[in-house]
This record gives sequence, C-alpha cells and structure tokens, in this order.
Amino acid sequence: MTPEERTLLHESGHLAAAVVLDLEPTRAEITPGNRDHAGAVYWRLGDMTPELATRIAKMTLCGPAMGTGELPSWPLCETRSRDEKLVSVIINHLGFDEPKYDELQLRVWESNSLASVQASLHRKRDAAPSPLGDRAGGDRDR
Ligand SMILES: [Zn+2]
Repeated sequence: MTPEERTLLHESGHLAAAVVLDLEPTRAEITPGNRDHAGAVYWRLGDMTPELATRIAKMTLCGPAMGTGELPSWPLCETRSRDEKLVSVIINHLGFDEPKYDELQLRVWESNSLASVQASLHRKRDAAPSPLGDRAGGDRDR
C-alpha cells in the first residue's frame, strides 16, 4: 500500500465516522507528498458537551483504525500524532482512565465495521427527504 493509499483510507475512516456520528463534515482533503499534513477532515463544531467531545474522539480514532488498523495505546502521548494529541486532550478533559479509554476503543471497533457504517448510511439516506417530494402514487414498494 502506498503512503497516499494509506492516507486515503485514514481520512475516509474519519469522514465516514463524521457522517455516521452526525458531526456535519464540511470538507475533506488529501495532500499527496506532504508528510506533515497528509490529509484532514473538517466538521462543524457545535456547542461542546461531553457527549459531543466523545463523538469527536471516536471519529478521530476511526482514522487510525482504518489507516493502520491500530489505535493509540494507553497512556496516550500528545507528540506521536495529531490524532493522538486531540484524543488525549479530549479524554483528559473528560477525566477518562484506562478502562474508560478501553471502552471507547471497543466502541470504535464496533462502529468501524463496514456493515455498521453501511447500515448507518442507509438509515440516513432513508430518513432524508426525497428530492422528488412525497408524491402520491410513487414507485415505493409497499
Ligand atoms: Zn487522522
């Protein structure tokens, strides 16, 4: 796998998680050849609550989960990667200990399975209003 392919997998992990976790992603970018800033996903930042901070930590961990298949191990280190730094800041703020971080990692692996992401995306698609409106006599299966 080339570094660009690994970056693509990593960023798509963040992006899929941002969609599934309702973080309203606004932009994703891949910068081939830039080792310090290979890619990024941006999202709309709402009012920060512990629940939102946990979703952001989970979305952040989905990048390494997809890219390398590994998550940062406890204790987190703020200098190993930007993702690890962000997750470290969030979980320190939330007062996570090692068992709580282990639980977060488990939830990332559960939500990171392809079947789980597909099911969430299909639920979102089905819940979205139809671009054709709700016409009587449409072609829906009943
Ligand atoms: Zn990342």
